[in-house]
Amino acid sequence: MNYFEYRSGEMFIENLKVSEIADKVGTPFYLYSSASLAYQYTQFKEAFGDLDLLICYAVKANTNQSVIKTLGDLGAGADVVSQGELRRALAAGIAPEKIVYSGVAKTVVEMLFALETGIYQFNVESEPELFQLSEVAASLNKTADITFRVNPDVDAKTHAKISTGKSENKFGIPWKNVREICAIAAKLPGIKLVGLDLHIGSQITELNPFEQAFTRISGLIETLREDGHEISRLDLGGGLGISYEGDDFPPLPREYAEMVKRVVSHLKCQIIIEPGRFLVGNAGILVSKVIYVKEGEKRKFLIIDAAMNDLIRPSMYDAYHGIDPLKQSDHDDRLYDVVGPVCETGDTFATNRLVSPMNSGDLLAIRSVGAYGAVMSSTYNTRPLIAEVLVKDDEFAVVRPRPTYDEIIGLDKLPSWLSK
Ligand SMILES: *Cc1c(COP(=O)(O)O)cnc(C)c1O
Repeated sequence: MNYFEYRSGEMFIENLKVSEIADKVGTPFYLYSSASLAYQYTQFKEAFGDLDLLICYAVKANTNQSVIKTLGDLGAGADVVSQGELRRALAAGIAPEKIVYSGVAKTVVEMLFALETGIYQFNVESEPELFQLSEVAASLNKTADITFRVNPDVDAKTHAKISTGKSENKFGIPWKNVREICAIAAKLPGIKLVGLDLHIGSQITELNPFEQAFTRISGLIETLREDGHEISRLDLGGGLGISYEGDDFPPLPREYAEMVKRVVSHLKCQIIIEPGRFLVGNAGILVSKVIYVKEGEKRKFLIIDAAMNDLIRPSMYDAYHGIDPLKQSDHDDRLYDVVGPVCETGDTFATNRLVSPMNSGDLLAIRSVGAYGAVMSSTYNTRPLIAEVLVKDDEFAVVRPRPTYDEIIGLDKLPSWLSK
């Protein structure tokens, strides 16, 4: 479902005209659709039927409180990768019993906080982390339920920077060491081994890598059970891709769910899945204004008021994002390079792209930015973090206001020898 559609030539989000929100909020800003979030979540959940399933939204994709709470109110738990994210999930009302904690480098302070909070499970990624967690849990007289994140050595066929399940990646326990580390864990105080987990990468657009990895991990669970471990949970990670171009078709939730059930249901484990991008990616657009149209020697540039500091995916991952006008034109599309104001050539959203003809002052939408958009933004070039806005039907709310310049500059403190 597309919750950003044209009506009489004007882009709407649910039942609001995007340009009217832009007039009130000021560009650039992120704009999210509640209905889209709900649709994605519900569709995902329903695809699994009555499978014993916990969906833990990977909050790193979009940590806005209103986004986490929208999904949490629908029943989602959370997958967090830092104390900050854990606090955000709790603040948005996610119950600790629905929170799993991933990440390669949990610190002692983070472990203490998570244990005191009583989260559902730690996804442990190395032997040193296992020993550290055992020590911390035992010191609190608590038991940490853990899964080991295993590295299945599968090629997820995605961008190298977001591929995580190959043996050369830093993530997970090497396959050949898993039995040994489980045996160690079984004897450690403060630790209860409850399952295995994996996460092979992000923006995966084929079922095959998932199926290979899930098949491998299922076999491993059987081996571990033969070794005497009680394995009751299997966490399959996230990674299901979305369509960015409109003409690529990642697996549907139904297809993904059918494969999961076929491959793992005989294990009778509780299944945990950590989708991030799938839930929020297509629920957001970035609304921006054309500042200048510049005729270069070889190219025509649309210089817009959003920049790489607001959305880094194109420069960091060579990501493609659709770019559409808020008001459709009767004229043919033209070739443009769409660029931001930051002093780097990498500040480019699209090169040689056919876009509807635009003039300075015109508004446009960069699509599919709900995931890894606002969360990866910075204030580079002292550009204030842009506002985030959430729509529900015919209402909108600014869910993160733009900070003022004084607030940004006020974050710096002068040392005593400079402030006299
Ligand atoms: C990033 C991440 C996810 C979410 O990935 P998506 O591609 O956004 O679904 C899930 N689990 C772990 C451990 C992650 O690091």
